[in-house]
Amino acid sequence: MRHMTIAALMGASLLTACATAPQPAADSLDAVARDYVALTLEIGEREPGYVDAYYGPAEWAEAAKASPRALPQLAEGAAALSRRLVALPTAGLDAESLQRRAYLSAHVSAASARLRMLAGEKMSFADEAEAQFGVRPELRPLSSYEPVLARIDALVPGEGPLADRVAAFRAGYVIPKDRLEPVMRAAINECKARTERRMTLPAHETFTLEFVNDKPWSGYNWYKGNAFSLIQVNTDLPIYIDRAVDLGCHEGYPGHHVYNALLEQTFVKQKGWVEMSVYPLFSPMSFIAEGSANYGIDLAFPGHERTDFEKRVLYPLAGLDPATAEAQTQLLALTRELGRAEYTVADTYLAGRIDRETALDQLQKYNLIARDRANQRLSFIETYRSYIINYGLGRDMVQTWVEGQGPDHWATTERLLASQTLPVDLD
Ligand SMILES: [Zn+2]
Repeated sequence: MRHMTIAALMGASLLTACATAPQPAADSLDAVARDYVALTLEIGEREPGYVDAYYGPAEWAEAAKASPRALPQLAEGAAALSRRLVALPTAGLDAESLQRRAYLSAHVSAASARLRMLAGEKMSFADEAEAQFGVRPELRPLSSYEPVLARIDALVPGEGPLADRVAAFRAGYVIPKDRLEPVMRAAINECKARTERRMTLPAHETFTLEFVNDKPWSGYNWYKGNAFSLIQVNTDLPIYIDRAVDLGCHEGYPGHHVYNALLEQTFVKQKGWVEMSVYPLFSPMSFIAEGSANYGIDLAFPGHERTDFEKRVLYPLAGLDPATAEAQTQLLALTRELGRAEYTVADTYLAGRIDRETALDQLQKYNLIARDRANQRLSFIETYRSYIINYGLGRDMVQTWVEGQGPDHWATTERLLASQTLPVDLD
């Protein structure tokens, strides 16, 4: 099938139709899945970046490129898929097929929401997060983060705004540009080694590491299929030493690279479930992807192991003083508690209730970052909007779920990564 042309496929089905009684074929999950892939690929033709990964038949991508439906027809196509999924009989379906149906329903519903947004519909931050990712974020008032700021203030004494003091402190932890590649490679290799000890990875899985510029993100995993990823690291801004392990685990092992490779192996290669050969960025899948990628950092480096590894290997490689590592670890543990403040900033900024300068001021104050980083973060927020909930909230929900399943967190995470689990299943 992979190598047949569309014309050959059409010819084949025409022959089949002539040779047998022209009865309408019964609908099936496989048929809906095939049309869901077409829908997703065509939305990707209308919105660059919507399709994060696709490694199904090249003919399907070519067909979408050649004649993508217009937005109103795509919206009608999504509605039709939803109706077909509701109409499919569920009697006799096993648990995996029921989950498959739920997965397709949730992803078609997210596609509908994205199409409404592309057509100009305005939703609140929490509404669009829930419609696209299947989780409604809590938006706490910024004042609720003041106690955390006060604790950090005590940790980084001095004059001037706290964000400036923290930025000055963090400046001592920048990886020199000429050490970036060896430090990143050492970090990814360690993340991979720790993951391989606890998970069975697909044979021949591999990745390429690239350094790039002028992107709204700091790192990206481009999954290419056949267990291969292109991992890109943005070097627009200086990279702090703690980002090495973050990026290695998040983009690589056991994060995005492993998630995609396990999905491809489990569903596309072993079962022929084509819906998993396409990854729409604005979908519940991203909540699981980002949440598990962030949880994967703590999974691979529990307790003090991360600081130990950084002190022993990464600081010397970067030419930084390992004796200063503990202070950085302490600060990072506290700043993590500020992670969701940006949801509140994004909510008010994207709705037009505060201007860009105010949003930058708030990001500086509550993320404790310098102006250039606040600018990069705001450009990420402008590009991806409520996608930002997938990181902090995603991590917390994945962690709570995994650790509630029993003592073997690696085995549970592997099961999660090789499944069609939805955010709603984590509750
Ligand atoms: Zn990510």
